[in-house]
Order: sequence, then C-alpha cells, then structure tokens
Amino acid sequence: MRVLVAGGAGFIGSHLADALLARGDEVVAVDSLVTGRHDNIAHLHGHRRFRFVEHDVCSALPDVGAVDAVMNLASPASPVDFLRIPLEILAVGADGSRNLIEYALRCNARYFLASTSEVYGDPLVHPQPETYWGNVDSIGPRSCYDESKRYAEALAMAYQRTADLQVRIVRIFNTYGERMRPDDGRVVTNFIVQALRGEPITLYGTGEQTRSFCYVSDQVRGQISILDGDVSSPVNIGNPDEFTMRELAEAVVVLTGSRSEIVTVALPAEREGDPNRRCPDISLAARAYGWIPEVTLHEGLAPTIAAIADELGIRPPALTR
Ligand code: NAD
Ligand code: UDP
Repeated sequence: MRVLVAGGAGFIGSHLADALLARGDEVVAVDSLVTGRHDNIAHLHGHRRFRFVEHDVCSALPDVGAVDAVMNLASPASPVDFLRIPLEILAVGADGSRNLIEYALRCNARYFLASTSEVYGDPLVHPQPETYWGNVDSIGPRSCYDESKRYAEALAMAYQRTADLQVRIVRIFNTYGERMRPDDGRVVTNFIVQALRGEPITLYGTGEQTRSFCYVSDQVRGQISILDGDVSSPVNIGNPDEFTMRELAEAVVVLTGSRSEIVTVALPAEREGDPNRRCPDISLAARAYGWIPEVTLHEGLAPTIAAIADELGIRPPALTR
C-alpha cells in the first residue's frame, strides 16, 4: 500500500511509519512539526519508500500522488498544549480532518482517524467500552482537545454516511515509548526526567488517579490491524493494566535507581477536569483482530527511560550497574 501518515514525524506516527515500511508499504509522512521532530524520522531519510512533506494539514494538501490509505494522527496531544495552543488543536481536528478526508476521497483511499480515550471525558463507566458515550466537559481547558476529537469522529462518520468514505477509527489510550519529547509535559516523560535529574517527582492532586499505559509497539500493531480490518466504527487500543500515578512514580524510581522523593502538588490550571480513572475495555479489538497488548509497564518503561537518558546525556544509576 501507499500510505499518507499525517503526523508522521510525531511520537506514534513515526513508529507507525517504521512498521508500515517494515511490511513493505510506501509512506508519505506529512507533518507541520508543531509538536513533532525531524529527529523522529531522521533514520528514514534516504529510504526509497519514504517521503517527508512539511505541511500544516489545516491548509489544503499538496499533491503527493495517489495513496491507498490516509492515516490522520496529526494533533498536539499533551495537556500542556491545551492551554498553549487550543485554537490550533481545534483547527486540526476540524479543518485538518476535512482536508485529509477530501484527499482520501479523491484517491478512493481508506481514511483512518487517531481518536482518543478523551472522548470518554471523566468516565462514569469503568472500564470504558466503545459503546459508552462519555462524560465530557465542553468548555473546560481540556475541551479543545476532547471536542476536537469528538468532532473529528463525527465528521468521519458523516462522510461515511454521505460519501461512502471507508472509515477506520482508533481510540488511543495513554501510549508511551521512545521518541516522546522529554519536555512534552505528559506524566511518563515528566516522571522519567524528574527521576533522572534527581528532582522531586510531582504527583498532581492525590496521585491516586489512574491511567492504563500502552507501549508504542502494541499500539502500532493494534492500529495496523484496524487499518487492514473490517470494523468501521471506533475501536479502543490500550493496555488494560491500570496504575495509580503514585504506582507509576514508584516504578520509575525503581527502574532508574533514582533518589528522587515523590511529592504531591496542586493540580495545575490546565489539568482542571483531570479524569479520575481511565482503563480501556479491549474486548472489541480482541474479538475482531485477536489483538491484546504484549508489553508490560516495566518492560516498556526500561527502553523509554534509556532513550530519554540518552537524549539528556544522563546515566541513571540503575542502568550503569
Ligand atoms: P505527537 O505530538 O508526537 O504527534 C502528533 C504529530 O502531529 C506531531 O508530529 C505534530 O507536529 C503533528 N501535527 C499536529 N498538528 C498538525 C497540523 N496542523 N498539520 C500537520 N501536522 C500536525 O503526539 P502523539 O502522542 O504521537 O499523538 C499522535 C496522535 O495520537 C494524535 O492525534 C493524538 O491526539 C493521538 N493520541 C495519542 C495518545 C498518546 O497517549 N500518545 C493518546 C490518545 C490519542
Ligand atoms: N500527572 C502527574 N504529574 C505530572 C504529570 C501528570 O501526576 O507531572 C498526572 C495527570 O494529572 C494525569 C495523569 O498524570 O492524572 C496522566 O497525565 P498525562 O498528561 O500523561 O495524560 P492524560 O491522560 O491526562 O491526558
């Protein structure tokens, strides 16, 4: 297949590009680099089946040739960006999605949308199946992201109904791994950087809120199953092992050998409405595609820590022993 990956210089998008290339596909990565990095795809330059196009998908796409699939991963995704660039986040979910859909229609290509567990908001049903409609604040600081993704889902489904667009949607639950930006503000990178620098590890609020962390190789494998498969409604992809943020901090301390203390701090402004619990119900992915995650949190944190340590030029005690 020839696949356009919007957001292909981002964390997940670049791993997806690697996986598609590894199975013989051709990849055109389109990215504005607003939160992505050249470094994520530096190893692909010169690859004869890879091309990078720097472009903001909120403007009509340049002609990059016919493609068989358009995968839309373009969107800032860290809560720190929700206060910094909310208008850009809303624009990419709306205008960016529409431009990518129009490109897919012109090519008669399949359209794949990276949606999010945030469409469930601060969920009242636990774990969250795809049939749950969510508990979402439409005006709080997270709303730019949550509503942008909900609109992007609605737009894809409307095109499916009116224009026969072939739609695939993944709802991604917290995913981590190598190539995350150390300063992206998400919990996994914050804790690792703090532990590596020997700084206090900051639990926001009580630290008893939960998340379920999926390693990027499992995430990408799930996304490719959805792209290739028949389910045309949203499918959750995430790891159902649920941890409190305190447990995550403790795991990072052990794996880095850090002397950092774990402290609680007040919830920052952009975290207002912080979901209390989050865990995917993955029975649809398991049933439809036989997909289940394979990498445990400890197994996935080790290479993630090593990559961030390399980037920061720090040798953590636990890795030098
Ligand atoms: P990321 O920031 O590393 O990747 C997003 C990429 O999209 C970046 O390279 C960025 O430069 C690009 N981008 C953003 N706006 C753009 C625009 N207007 N035009 C072109 N490119 C643009 O984040 P990520 O974690 O890799 O997320 C990838 C996708 O997965 C996003 O759509 C995100 O919403 C979704 N997602 C991620 C998670 C997660 O835990 N990592 C969870 C839920 C959903
Ligand atoms: N969090 C934290 N300390 C930090 C960063 C985040 O305790 O330094 C918490 C945050 O309040 C949230 C959870 O970790 O409850 C996950 O945050 P993240 O930004 O990774 O993703 P979210 O699931 O909130 O989008």
